[in-house]
Order: sequence, then C-alpha cells, then structure tokens
Amino acid sequence: MEHTLNIDKKYITPIDFPDYPAIESFLDECTNDEALQFLDTHRKALLKIYRLAQSHGENNAISFARKYCKENNIKLNPFGNGNRKTAVPSTYRKVGETCPSSCPYLGTVCLAQKFLVDMQAKRAHDEWMPAFVTMTICALVAVANGIKAREKVSGDFYKNGSELDLDYISSLITLGQWLKKNLKNYDGVYGWTYTHIDPEEIGEYIVALEAAGLKVLTSDRLVAGGAIITEYKDVPKLRKHTDVKLIKCLAELSDNYSCRNCDLCSQAKDMNACIVFKAKDKKTIKHSPFAGLFN
Ligand code: SF4
Repeated sequence: MEHTLNIDKKYITPIDFPDYPAIESFLDECTNDEALQFLDTHRKALLKIYRLAQSHGENNAISFARKYCKENNIKLNPFGNGNRKTAVPSTYRKVGETCPSSCPYLGTVCLAQKFLVDMQAKRAHDEWMPAFVTMTICALVAVANGIKAREKVSGDFYKNGSELDLDYISSLITLGQWLKKNLKNYDGVYGWTYTHIDPEEIGEYIVALEAAGLKVLTSDRLVAGGAIITEYKDVPKLRKHTDVKLIKCLAELSDNYSCRNCDLCSQAKDMNACIVFKAKDKKTIKHSPFAGLFN
C-alpha cells in the first residue's frame, strides 16, 4: 500500500551547502584570534591534558584540566564523560539563549530541559569563551583515546536566542585548525554535534566546522547528514520516500553500543545517511515533524 508523505518539502529536500574549492582560505577568514591566543598561551597545559588522557586515562586528564582552570581563573561550562548512551567527553550550553526559537522541541519536549541535562545546561555560562575552553578539553581527551567528543548535549549555536554566535562557531573552527597543527597522528575529526538552526542560515559555517574537524548533523531533516525523531514503525514507510539511508541509532537498539563504539553520526553525511532516533512518547510524536506521519 502506498503511503503519502504529508510533510513540508523543506524537511526532505537535500541541503544545498556552499562549495568552497579553497576551503583553507575560508577557514583562515574564520579564525577567532582570542581563541587562538588562549590555545597558544596554554599550549603546554593543553598538551599535558592530551598526554595524560593517553597514559593515565580520561578521568585523570579531566581532573588535571579542572584543577588547572581553577588555579588560572579560567571559566568552564559543565562537562563530563557522558551518559550510558554517549559515553564520550561531552559539553553543555544554555538552552533557550543558544537555541533558535523555531526548534519544535524548545519548551515542549526538549530532553535538555529535563532532569540532569537541564541542571547542567542551567549551570553553563552565557559567553562563548567557557563553551570553547570546555570543548577544547573534551576534544583533547577524546582524540587522545581515538574517539570523538560530543559538542553541546544541550543548546545550539545561537546567542541571545536570535543570532548566530559567530565568536563561538569561529572558536571551534580555530580549535580544529590548532589540533591539526599540534597533535601528531590526528585523523582530523575531533567531535560531532547537531543543530536545529536553518541550514540556509548556518550552512556556510557547517561546511567550515566540518572541514575543521567538527561534524554537524542537521536535526529534523531527512537528508544526508540529518537526524530525525520518528516512530520505528514508520521507518520502512519513510524509506520509500528517500534515497538517503535511514539508520537507527545503535545505542537505542542495543546496550552493547554507545557513541563511544559506534561513531555513525559523524560519518552520516559521507554515508549518505540520516540517523533515526526513536520518538519515545506521545508528546514527542506530537512535536516531531517526522513522527505521527502515517496514522
Ligand atoms: S547513532 Fe551511534 S554515534 Fe549516533 S547517537 Fe547513536 S550511538 Fe551515538
């Protein structure tokens, strides 16, 4: 039986990311001088975090990083080794201020506004610098162990709830360039994240972030490099409406998987794949553009 896909075309239309044949010059244009100065000033301590993570484990490296930042009055956002599902170094930003108001989950079913994540998100600073320093530590700890860091479990790339936080975005581009220059045997990808910001607005920066080593999935878009929330029963029906592979999150399918040993999200775009997360309750089904489509 044919199922009609009754959804706004923008959610399933391939995203037209700008093409930069000379991406390196665009990356140079995006350099955040203040972030670069921080990285170079604290280079010795940052490389120690990396080496400690390799030789004495992630917790030791994180303890040293926290102590060093406290002694040097460097502000940090909450961060840690993730939950059972992620199990990798992960950061948090404030929800609301950093999110686009168009996000269908904001103030309704956003998981970052619940329980422990909500507590962490509320403790995050407003400014970009602590978010950048925290991601730097997480990236170093992750890369030292051959994994990737999860950039902002909560929040997004906005500031003041209405405009792109270009200082923060450029700091993450600068971080990627710095890691390439300072780490030996680094494969060039330090983390991954998701954004609800319209690709029309953030597209050129997604290209730059990815070239610098942070993979960015577009939430609520059935496209290569997208991530959607739907009911599993609808996945076979959705497959008939797209050439993009729909891959269910492995950590949701089996306790044997977490982002630590999966890594599909950071490869989704290259695999022409969109990651599917399960709509867990009726409220989420109500708010997700991809849930409740075929009832
Ligand atoms: S698909 Fe893999 S990498 Fe993505 S969220 Fe699930 S476990 Fe993590």
